[in-house]
Amino acid sequence: GSDRQVRVRFAPSPTGYLHVGGARTALFNYLYARSKGGKFILRIEDTDLERSTKESEEAVLRDLSWLGLAWDEGPGVGGDYGPYRQSERNDLYKQYAEKLLQSGQVYRCFCSNEELEQMKEIAKEKQLPPVYTGKWATATDEEVQEELAKGTPCTYRFRVPKEGSLTITDLIRGEVSWNLDTLGDFVVMRSNGQPVYNFCVTVDDATMAITHVIRAEEHLPNTLRQALIYKALGFPMPSFAHVSLILAPDRSKLSKRHGATSVGQFREMGYLPQAIVNYLALLGWSDGTNAEFFTLEQMVEKFSIDRVNKSGAIFDSVKLRWMNGQH
Ligand code: GLU
Repeated sequence: GSDRQVRVRFAPSPTGYLHVGGARTALFNYLYARSKGGKFILRIEDTDLERSTKESEEAVLRDLSWLGLAWDEGPGVGGDYGPYRQSERNDLYKQYAEKLLQSGQVYRCFCSNEELEQMKEIAKEKQLPPVYTGKWATATDEEVQEELAKGTPCTYRFRVPKEGSLTITDLIRGEVSWNLDTLGDFVVMRSNGQPVYNFCVTVDDATMAITHVIRAEEHLPNTLRQALIYKALGFPMPSFAHVSLILAPDRSKLSKRHGATSVGQFREMGYLPQAIVNYLALLGWSDGTNAEFFTLEQMVEKFSIDRVNKSGAIFDSVKLRWMNGQH
């Protein structure tokens, strides 16, 4: 409900540097929390062990601190909070996977990879959506016990309603709907006991009592699975706000070939953190006037999520340089 204390999170994957897009997402979360007297939480999404690095995590923490975007809580005591890390929360994910298994919203699937491939082939031939059609959605307890006794590896599969739709009201994008009939029962825990990304995110957002998920637009497709898992877990659904991407001047996705794009690069070039924060705040947001200079405190005072633009914002390094000169 709306009477809950506002709690938001920035959840970077430590697979690279903090780039301007990520910094803007962090800033919007920070501003929202501060403007509502809420909490801003930092969660490192390091479940992808092959791509996650300690250097990247350290760089993200350093750059957030440098920008002045302090987070409010985490494991640890005495105000010396580390961030939350998904790699330290595996037991929690497993616990919730077991809970959903008990309630029947998740079931054990013993299908081999070959069987799953065959299913896909058949669906393709028949021009049907590639949804799970295996027997384990409706298997008897005896059949399950038999496979368990044999030691057959199994995944945990989420039971998706076979019809109907799901609608969210995104605070930036308005109503977004998905049909459920083409989704199919999806895996939430792999046969090696590793929970999948969408499951971790949902258990985290639910158990951290996140009220507003403010994140990049590219995560909008994940929201369907996450919302279904949310419902199954029985936690109050958060509000969602999917922020548009930052684009290059040619409206392509901003990347390294467009020059400096990471916060660390701008710091090394001698840019001032308040100039970067000021510039990023105005990228796709305005206070409704032509005002261009805001301190972080003034931004907190003026920020409102419904004035964040739906369309992609163009990153203009010349403007940023100019703004830096004015600070
Ligand atoms: N870890 C994701 C990323 O770095 C963010 C996921 C989320 O905010 O839900 O893009």
